[in-house]
Amino acid sequence: MRLYDYHVHTDNSLDCQIPMIAMCEQALQLGVQEIAFTDHLNSHPLDLDLGFYDPVRYFEDIQFCRERFPQLKILAAIEVGEPHRWWARVRPILEAYSYDVVLGSLHWVGNENVFNENYFRARTPQRAYHEYFAELTRMIAHGGFDILAHVDLPKRLGQSYYGSFNALAHEADFRAVWQACLDHRITPEINTKGLRVPSAQLHPTLEALRWYVEMGGEDITIGSDAHHAQSIAQDFQAAHNCARVAGIRYLCRYEKRTIIERLPL
Ligand SMILES: [Zn+2]
Ligand SMILES: [Zn+2]
Repeated sequence: MRLYDYHVHTDNSLDCQIPMIAMCEQALQLGVQEIAFTDHLNSHPLDLDLGFYDPVRYFEDIQFCRERFPQLKILAAIEVGEPHRWWARVRPILEAYSYDVVLGSLHWVGNENVFNENYFRARTPQRAYHEYFAELTRMIAHGGFDILAHVDLPKRLGQSYYGSFNALAHEADFRAVWQACLDHRITPEINTKGLRVPSAQLHPTLEALRWYVEMGGEDITIGSDAHHAQSIAQDFQAAHNCARVAGIRYLCRYEKRTIIERLPL
């Protein structure tokens, strides 16, 4: 199996304590061929890590690790929170530095964070997920990134309020999100972290991926969203199986913000 982990954090993110060098050592032990370090650039005024991300320090780490681990392909990447809302702040950073791939993430709906239980307490399940997907669709339509991260993120916490997430109840929302991805050439990721939290599901699940394929989607990336070394490439077999069963055709590889290869799944 190919191990291209396109969503890994390091201590360049406030919510991760593991240095890049330790992540690379673990990746090599696991036989990972390619790794994208996707540290957070968050810009919401209420983000706890606002102002934490330092691209100079990040790229020093990238250069150091590329020299030290020539046998590992290391991508300079970034996970941008709500790029459509903070574009004036985000754009200069993306233009000033040589990123290989940019992930777009939605962690906030208005001034509410989907990792905060208040978001769910105040809403019916249908409304909580619909408002997230509607905002996500706006984010994709704005563009400025290459990969859509964790498409159904609110289920990580939502399942403890509403029970297990059922994609079938949100088909129209998923289809709107996938259409926006196809229109704006944004590749969805399969994020395996959902399997390691109580939601116990991939982001997204098989049904939702099938809609994407049915609508013409062919491409995917896979990411562990690791914040610990032991989570690198975790559950990649499950992600590959899910992609294949759904009918996804290619695993995409990026360099300098361009797809350089589409590997048949
Ligand atoms: Zn995220
Ligand atoms: Zn992440």
